[in-house]
Amino acid sequence: MSETPTPWSAGAAYIDGRFMPIGEAAIPITDWGYRRSDVTYDVVGVRDGAFFRLDEHVRRFRASMETFRLKPPEDDAAIKRVLHRCVALAGLRDAYVAMDCLRGRPPAGQPYHPAYARNYLAAFALPWISLVRPEVMERGAHLVVAETLRIPARSVDPRAKNFHWADLTRGQFEAHDRGADFCILLDEDGNVTEGPGFNLFTVTEGCLATPDAGVLEGLTRQSVIDLAREMDLPVAVRPVSVAELRDADEILLVTTAGGIMPASRIDGRIMGNDRPGPVFRRLHDAFWEKRAAGWHATPVDYASAHG
Ligand code: PLP
Repeated sequence: MSETPTPWSAGAAYIDGRFMPIGEAAIPITDWGYRRSDVTYDVVGVRDGAFFRLDEHVRRFRASMETFRLKPPEDDAAIKRVLHRCVALAGLRDAYVAMDCLRGRPPAGQPYHPAYARNYLAAFALPWISLVRPEVMERGAHLVVAETLRIPARSVDPRAKNFHWADLTRGQFEAHDRGADFCILLDEDGNVTEGPGFNLFTVTEGCLATPDAGVLEGLTRQSVIDLAREMDLPVAVRPVSVAELRDADEILLVTTAGGIMPASRIDGRIMGNDRPGPVFRRLHDAFWEKRAAGWHATPVDYASAHG
């Protein structure tokens, strides 16, 4: 890996069969992926030169593509080769790696209908990104329950990763207006769903709970469930009411881009001593220790940069 910055060091991308430095990556402005948010995606993390839960991310990506009836030419093995090569071309040890499948557009002369569009794969690797700044990691995130509700799952299935983010974005402005870091969205029954780019867990009297429906089935969420079971911490996947969220001892935010992140305030109420709590610390430390020891790790094929 080169020490001198090159156009590749800022990141590497792949679009529809071609690799390029991230600064050159662009999609056509008329693509329905852009004009209609008719696109699905997934994001996998690389730490210390290894992907985390790579097969599961690609499996979930394929399931999301099936939900939205998207089909790129690449099979799963080819997608994995593309991801390895993006990381290798950028020479990154710690990376945020995205894979997208865009609708494209119907070729000239074909009906103006998504069924006739030629779908294609785009992917990129960037230097590692965390959702939460170091000072927020230190003090814990300040959360608000948004007035905006999550788009109903019967309209857009949140288990298929998508960019129908108008609800989450509107919620983020509510959070910003109220001086908080992140919003949490409820469903129409007043149950907790998720936030902009993360799942969550409540901790009440030592018991963890995470919503069972209306959310992306996050792989970090799965990792926390696995870890909690290993550590004999009670963990339940079930409806979580807004009252339970507002009264929780701790709230954990979990996502690929950041891992396990703490919260210290909810709707202005201070949890614990206004700092990350003890269950957060145990799970956070165990998560990164296990990651360092190779948990669900797939080493990046750096030689693929030359292939
Ligand atoms: N929920 C939403 C809406 C997300 O966008 C994400 C990740 O981007 C997550 C949850 C967390 O999923 P994962 O842990 O698989 O990254």
